Amino acid sequence: MSETPENLSTDVLIVGGGIIGLCTAYYLQQQGVSVMVVDQGAMGEGSSFANAGLVAPSHFIPLASPGVIRKGLRWMLNPESPFYIKPRLDVDLFSWLWKFRHYATSAYVNRHKKPLKEFLEYSYQLFEALHQSNAFDFEWTPHGLLMVYLTEGGRRDLEYLHQQAGELEVPAEWVSAERLPKFLGHISTTARGGLFFPGDAHLDPGKFVKGMADFLSRKGVRLLEHTAVRDFRVQGNRVEAVVVNDVEIRASRVVVTAGSWTAALVARLGIRLPLQPAKGYSITFPWEKPRFTVPLILTETKIAVTPFRQQLRFAGTLELAGLQLNINSRRVRAIRKGVQRYLPDIGASETSRGTIWAGLRPCTPDGLPVVGRVPNFSNLWLATGHAMIGISLATGTGKAIADDILGKTPEIDLQPFRVDRFQPRLCISLRMTRIKTNKPR
Ligand SMILES: Cc1cc2nc3c(=O)[nH]c(=O)nc-3n(C[C@H](O)[C@H](O)[C@H](O)COP(=O)(O)OP(=O)(O)OC[C@H]3O[C@@H](n4cnc5c(N)ncnc54)[C@H](O)[C@@H]3O)c2cc1C
Repeated sequence: MSETPENLSTDVLIVGGGIIGLCTAYYLQQQGVSVMVVDQGAMGEGSSFANAGLVAPSHFIPLASPGVIRKGLRWMLNPESPFYIKPRLDVDLFSWLWKFRHYATSAYVNRHKKPLKEFLEYSYQLFEALHQSNAFDFEWTPHGLLMVYLTEGGRRDLEYLHQQAGELEVPAEWVSAERLPKFLGHISTTARGGLFFPGDAHLDPGKFVKGMADFLSRKGVRLLEHTAVRDFRVQGNRVEAVVVNDVEIRASRVVVTAGSWTAALVARLGIRLPLQPAKGYSITFPWEKPRFTVPLILTETKIAVTPFRQQLRFAGTLELAGLQLNINSRRVRAIRKGVQRYLPDIGASETSRGTIWAGLRPCTPDGLPVVGRVPNFSNLWLATGHAMIGISLATGTGKAIADDILGKTPEIDLQPFRVDRFQPRLCISLRMTRIKTNKPR
């Protein structure tokens, strides 16, 4: 799968082989473009690997919303809560939180839920088409998503979501406690009911990224693994090349899809992107015979329970602790306990069981992704900031970026997701000088 970075040049160079970069490569390759993807590690082993795998048009409320602020203040210093901020002095974090507070208003949510919903539905249709194409198997399971609740507070949260879904014509139906066995079979639950979204689906994210990387490689897309981009060479308003180790890769167009690492990387181009990595964990168990096929969201704890063909996964927690992937055992324990509260017989509390994984969701302060060309640069695009919905939005993002690069009008409106929406004038300053060295500054 991998190449060595000697004498390399390409038409489009994609920095970051997560689901966003790989999907962008796919839609470019499908339109006959010569593409190369470069990743500092192995393809698909960042945040895109062992997450919950939900492809969820039901997630149309941006992360920055008034409800999150209300609960977040209560949760944020408790290491076992769904949302946690590691106390530390970090100017970027404070500035991000300040902006988050500014965006988390009903007015902002009302303005953006429709574009987000349209983006999610567009992406869903592209997943469906990809599945139909039989390019590779990724366990596409369009069986819906059930959000269950235990408490009155949880029910109220779902009532709000139901009402919003109604306004946007997203199908959603109430499930009484008596009807829960229809979804859960013989698995016992303490949940008092739920809200079912029949238009959602799930896939195995690890299978998706690995299957996509193999598919692209067979189609002639060059994939460079264990090759970190350290810098860029700029001429005028163009990125001429990226610098890896001690060589350059020249490219006509460059797309940066480096997930949570994007902000540090594009800072080298003078672009200030407010992005915080939000760590989440998953615990995956072997599960020989799936006993239910509809994934769950446990409303009060924000944990997802996803049944794959041979595995069951619990995923959750959002921890603002910087760009590091160490496992915080208290947070993993909180996930086990959280599942145990709803599904007491499923074995979640057996601490020796399950493979633990951590990933970093790239989060913008307004809860929307950043997708589009960077103003002031004629050949540079960014696609990141997908937070908790990067799997759901991956195909839509990849297709929209590919179309934009090829001079076609993207099929969704990218205006709400544009790169310069945070302080447009202050944020981006073009670095006109030619970079002569690849040494980190
Ligand atoms: C616990 C958890 C559960 C989640 N569940 C869901 C879900 O159910 N549904 C959903 O839609 N989303 C979910 N998400 C969010 C989703 O995983 C992310 O939004 C998505 O994976 C982001 O994809 P990406 O390609 O932008 O980033 P990544 O997958 O992190 O890829 C970025 C890549 O860039 C590479 N890179 C970085 N810097 C450089 C460099 N300098 N040079 C070369 N390469 C570089 C990295 O190695 C990495 O491979 C979840 C996330 C977590 C953590």
